[in-house]
Amino acid sequence: NGLIVSFGEMLIDFVPTVSGVSLAEAPGFLKAPGGAPANVAIAVARLGGKAAFVGKLGDDEFGHMLAGILKQNKGARTALAFVTLAIHALAFVTLRADGEREFMFYRNPSADMLLTPDELNNNIIYIAKVFHYGSISLIVEPCRSAHLKAMEVAKAAGALLSYDPNLRLPLWPSAEYAKEQIMSIWNKADVIKVSDNELEFLTGSNKIDDESALSLWHPNLKLLLVTLGEKGCRYYTKNFRGSVDGYHVNTVDTTGAGDSFVGSLLGKIVDDHAIIQDEARLKEVLKYACACGAITTTKKGAIPALPTHSEVLSVLNGAK
Ligand code: ATP
Repeated sequence: NGLIVSFGEMLIDFVPTVSGVSLAEAPGFLKAPGGAPANVAIAVARLGGKAAFVGKLGDDEFGHMLAGILKQNKGARTALAFVTLAIHALAFVTLRADGEREFMFYRNPSADMLLTPDELNNNIIYIAKVFHYGSISLIVEPCRSAHLKAMEVAKAAGALLSYDPNLRLPLWPSAEYAKEQIMSIWNKADVIKVSDNELEFLTGSNKIDDESALSLWHPNLKLLLVTLGEKGCRYYTKNFRGSVDGYHVNTVDTTGAGDSFVGSLLGKIVDDHAIIQDEARLKEVLKYACACGAITTTKKGAIPALPTHSEVLSVLNGAK
């Protein structure tokens, strides 16, 4: 199995103990380890693939707790730097009754923002067959330079570059800056996954259709995916496009659904890039990815909800 290296932040999401409340109304919070790039690495490992997470954690109780979680997930190697200067990043997140997700972040600065280019473990990045990243690591220096260097090392070594911008607007100084920075690395990616909300934000169009999706196409792109929550996803390649339906499940918390989807997709294409050019095979892989996303919504938090292969099979078989 080829190695999937995921770069960026790992943090703790604090999710309300009861559903459908605003952060202010929440009576209490549960610790839920998360951070999109870490979720992706663990999603891959839990499905039986080989993954590594590259990032920086706080040298504190929470940072070591998170390092322990990566270790517990057989298959998720780590290339971690620790920092004593900053506390670990915390995010309070809730899905309100009106369906909107509300975030509040404590990271001023947090450990992940302080990763320097010199701290990168190039040995791990160099052997990546897929290198995956988001955009939160582009917000401030020195992490931004570390991110750009890691991408360069991975690309030079021949890895497939996978990008999920994972827009978290409250973390950016302005919406314009977020868009500019997210787009600044757009043309380097081989595979890009955006959610419907991100599509609207990046294109400025309020339509989720082929035209707006294809306005995000770039000449070197191999696969563009637009995830649509419970409705599944749409896919675009140079030669074909189409959609895959979602699965109906008992959703309690959608956090991590996109990361689960991406992790499972990368786990399938890492050893067989040709899947991207074969529509029938790609559709099978995306059905599997949608099942992974769906399962992840059935439990609170991201990492605890990431499925194993046998859990995915039971959803796929149940849907037949
Ligand atoms: P996140 O940022 O929460 O990780 P996202 O917004 O990037 O997620 P989504 O579109 O929410 O991505 O979800 C990814 C995939 O997970 C979808 O394409 C779908 O297959 C599955 N999924 C998400 N939400 C649901 C749901 N409520 N019911 C069933 N499947 C879902």
